[in-house]
Amino acid sequence: AQAINAMLDRINEAYRSQMRFVSDASHELRTPISVIQGYANLLDRWGKDDPDTMQEAIDAIRSEADAMKELVEQLLFLARGDNDSMHIDQTDFDLTEVAAQVLKETEMIDQTHLFSAQWSTGPVPVHADLGLIKQCLRVLVDNSIKYTPAGGRITLRVEAGGGLARLSVQDEGQGIDAESLPHIFDRFFRTDQSRARQTGGTGLGLAIVRAAVLAHGGSCTAENIPGGVRFQVRLPALQSER
Ligand code: ADP
Repeated sequence: AQAINAMLDRINEAYRSQMRFVSDASHELRTPISVIQGYANLLDRWGKDDPDTMQEAIDAIRSEADAMKELVEQLLFLARGDNDSMHIDQTDFDLTEVAAQVLKETEMIDQTHLFSAQWSTGPVPVHADLGLIKQCLRVLVDNSIKYTPAGGRITLRVEAGGGLARLSVQDEGQGIDAESLPHIFDRFFRTDQSRARQTGGTGLGLAIVRAAVLAHGGSCTAENIPGGVRFQVRLPALQSER
């Protein structure tokens, strides 16, 4: 009876979490749809002969449609992970090289933070989906930028050991409060501070990182460190004899 009860609890929890996901997704889509409807009405009433209003409406509709497209793509990605139908195109590459590339791209775009790299002395080979791993790194680095005040340092680290390739992104930002930390990789989870700050984002970035890393047989964690937070991704290392 205990085993069956435990199983029912798990099924119940999975069902509730699916319902929550659907309801959160609908909620997130409702805002851009309302904005698009609002601008369509505005155009209908006043915009037809006013080029400025027309341009404003076109820009807003375009930007909301882009946001909706991004959200739908993220949802589809997560749904594929749930169905075990995520497409992973694995090749052999050096994780350090990819991290260095992302760091270089980021430094070109963001001049307000300080960036450091701590690479392992030799290459850190992995057998993984290059595009996906790059996307994960970008999510982590973008978050560090979003949640770290200007002038703060962001450190990328890649190292190998114990059969794992480890990659971490550490920042000097606001950190994550203890209650939020266990939920940080959940879908649509955002801490109160970031919601209040309106930093944008869908709250799906870290859920996508987790799904992608799990699909590679890896794991990811977040921990507060003095003066910031450190996200770590661990992937199975590619053995050199392969
Ligand atoms: P979002 O689109 O809101 O950034 P994520 O899934 O990427 O969604 O992150 C979820 C939440 O985790 C964020 O809203 C923020 O509250 C918190 N978070 C993520 N990265 C950091 C960080 N480097 N420092 C502090 N909080 C963070």
